[in-house]
Amino acid sequence: MSQHSGPALVVTETGGRDVLEVQQRDADEPGRDQVLVEVAAVGVNFIDVYQREGVYPMETPFVAGNEGAGTVVAVGADVTGLAVGDRVAWPQGIGSGARFSVQPASGVVAVPDGVDLDVAAAVMLQGLTAHYLTSSTYPVATGTTALVHAAAGGVGQLLVQTVKSLGGTVVATAGGPEKCATASGLGADHVIDYRDVDDLAAAVREATDGRGVDVAYDGVGKDTFDASLASLRPRGVMALFGAASGQVPPFDIQRLNGGGSLFLTRPSLGHHVATREELEWRSREVLGAVADGSLRVSIGGRYDLADAARAYEDLEGRRTQGKLLLLP
Ligand code: NDP
Repeated sequence: MSQHSGPALVVTETGGRDVLEVQQRDADEPGRDQVLVEVAAVGVNFIDVYQREGVYPMETPFVAGNEGAGTVVAVGADVTGLAVGDRVAWPQGIGSGARFSVQPASGVVAVPDGVDLDVAAAVMLQGLTAHYLTSSTYPVATGTTALVHAAAGGVGQLLVQTVKSLGGTVVATAGGPEKCATASGLGADHVIDYRDVDDLAAAVREATDGRGVDVAYDGVGKDTFDASLASLRPRGVMALFGAASGQVPPFDIQRLNGGGSLFLTRPSLGHHVATREELEWRSREVLGAVADGSLRVSIGGRYDLADAARAYEDLEGRRTQGKLLLLP
């Protein structure tokens, strides 16, 4: 057995949660530009579901998990700036769901003192997403009004806080009174229980005195897309960044004109951390905000790797708030 051996969450074939299997695996040696990390925590994300189900095609079997944090235990020959013992985190690695995981050195960042590894694992993917949505997709500033759906969720909680910290006004939606209370507690100015309203766009308009929002951050997709579009002010921006409720069906572009010269974008994190500089910039700002206490990370559940199927069942079943972690 290798010195670095431990459990790994394997997707044995494309499919539902029953294709997940924990296997004991020897870690690979890191390649020249890679590091081997002893993983402290793995983030649970919808992208893991899309990969497992084949929405994003992957060659099976593969080790599940994209996001994680841990301690470097071996360093490839060409790696500079990282050493054994360093605490690192990454938003979009490969095969992160294992006790030992090889990651490209270019994809990991140092975790600052004062930020626990589990918190870093919890905030990388969703925190960098909230960062690019509010800085690049639609730069939020004082006076901006943003619609944030699923505001008690992982990305949602971070979006609410980020918009508020940039001086914006948040119209939040969430499903049920507990989740609405969470959104309010984070500073959302208006909170709508979208399970309770017949006309969501009308409720958003009412919250904005009829004006409409400047930007709709919509990670729910199919169930909210129409209402998001109808909630925008003329020339507002529809940022469709996910599909928790299912993919939005094909779309008549003329609707953008009818709504008032609207903009529609479907952004992804990968395109917003495409260079090392961009990854470092966004990570520095997000982890820095966590370190100084201005960005609160809520960990809604921790699961053993062996219970991964239950974690994904909870996420997909709309039962969670904040971020879920797997502990390898
Ligand atoms: P969340 O923690 O937000 O969980 C999803 C939430 O969506 C649920 O808790 C639920 O909140 C709401 N929801 C509404 N309808 C459904 C439904 N039919 N099934 C399941 N959930 C539903 O997840 P994440 O923060 O991890 O991700 C949110 C979205 O952001 C996902 O679509 C994800 O793919 C996307 N994403 C996109 C990225 C990008 O760069 N494009 C990066 C990261 C995430 P409620 O009960 O309040 O309705």
